[in-house]
Amino acid sequence: MTKVCDNSTHWSTLEELQSVGIDSNSATGAAIHDSRGSGRVGLHNGKCMAATMVRNLLIFANRRAYGAVMSRKARAADLFDQPNCAKNRAKSEEERKLGCSRQLSPGAAAGGCAFDGAKIALQPVADVAHLVHGPIACEGNSWDNRQAASSGPTLYRTGFTTDINEFDVIYGGERRLFRSVREIIEKYNPPAVFVYQTCVTALIGDDIDAVCKQASVEFSKPVIPVHAPGFAGSKNLGNKLGGEALLNYVIGTREPAYTTPTDINVIGEYNLSGELWQVKPLLDELGIRLLSCITGDGRYSDIASAHRARANMVVCSKSMVHVATKMQERYGIPYLECSFYGIGDTSNALRQIASLLVQRGASGKLLDSTERLIQAQEERAWERIATYRARLEGKRALLITGGVKSWSVVAALQEAGLEIIGTSVKKSTKEDKERIKGILGQDALMFDNMTAREMYKLLHDAKADIMLSGGRSQFIALKALMPWLDVNQERHHPYAGYEGIVELIREIERTIYNPVWQQVRIPAP
Ligand code: SF4
Repeated sequence: MTKVCDNSTHWSTLEELQSVGIDSNSATGAAIHDSRGSGRVGLHNGKCMAATMVRNLLIFANRRAYGAVMSRKARAADLFDQPNCAKNRAKSEEERKLGCSRQLSPGAAAGGCAFDGAKIALQPVADVAHLVHGPIACEGNSWDNRQAASSGPTLYRTGFTTDINEFDVIYGGERRLFRSVREIIEKYNPPAVFVYQTCVTALIGDDIDAVCKQASVEFSKPVIPVHAPGFAGSKNLGNKLGGEALLNYVIGTREPAYTTPTDINVIGEYNLSGELWQVKPLLDELGIRLLSCITGDGRYSDIASAHRARANMVVCSKSMVHVATKMQERYGIPYLECSFYGIGDTSNALRQIASLLVQRGASGKLLDSTERLIQAQEERAWERIATYRARLEGKRALLITGGVKSWSVVAALQEAGLEIIGTSVKKSTKEDKERIKGILGQDALMFDNMTAREMYKLLHDAKADIMLSGGRSQFIALKALMPWLDVNQERHHPYAGYEGIVELIREIERTIYNPVWQQVRIPAP
């Protein structure tokens, strides 16, 4: 992790603040008086003056924070307003007003904060510097916690933080932020710097918009403010606020060198463990050009010219569907939602995108070549899955897949000979649930939320052979001495497209037959 500002001098002159575009009457500095009439800003020696200053600072910070929260409420409502979302449409007017976020229950783990969500969504943009304006712990909390891979630049994996301290809380951290941006640009010369607001810097009223604006002018480089302090809401809201920063400051700011009738953007794909690279060869073979991926293995200039695509494909609709809907409104780019998990879903995604591109002016031959590709790839995938059938026949799996569409994985697991004893449907739509019933039967065990105790009992009683889930439930499986495979965002293996589902089956086979399970099940002497 790189701490980009080691400046320990916290005295600022009014001229210095003004030189970076910060109005000392409106920024945090407003509470700090020009104590000696010399243009030097700092603490008075007298105790009463110091007390007055701190009181002023708190009043000011409260006003700024309150105003920010209020406006963010309106923004959050806008971000969650998705008239095309099937789940949203099925809700009553009252339920829609409550939004999509789950109410937190006391004692339950709440997951990441909004800042964490924004960082996760934007960090895969590989060639830009991601600068966190806040205490060092915020960056430590969110740094590199997913396996988003890059085919080139590695700057995105360097953690930059202004590492603000108590002095910055009193005097304001804007000057430190400006210096940090300058230091990053001088040392690394990235195409852009993303500046993330955090709880503390939002509460003290640091105006990151003004600093980013001034830094952009001074260094002739885009410096993008990302307004998603942790207290703004959930991680999912943070994903959306990250997308909003792209919409407001990046997309549409550059023109691509050339365009083709088959240019597409893939939105909400984060190239976890290289999953984009399992899908891109299929698009390449069909002559479909990936103009930009938002944001997996992303490049700043590609995303800046994404507004020239002919169609958008939304992979993770929960995090970024609003980017697609807003691009449709602003640039007239139609979008479709699809999944690349499972053989059937991958084929459907390819069919849908080919058909949309043909409607948008691509050659009709694309449809035929897509069908040929699907046939060849499906045959190859089923053939490779069949090689595992003998060893997986009759094995029982419990599926808690989170973001991965349960039913699309269920079909492939069954084809490999696995018996599915239950699946989570927490993020599934009504249609998804019907499909699962179609595959597993009307009595299929589907659950929305399950406590750790219930999960342990299910694993124990159902005598499952493997559990597929995210990292949070791994310890329940391990306690039940149950083989467990990570299928969530922290996974180390890519599971997308035809190649990915074969990889998943291979990993299941390796996990179930790992000799460690026999060892741990031997009773202690
Ligand atoms: S909740 Fe606030 S302080 Fe905590 S990591 Fe998120 S932004 Fe930082």
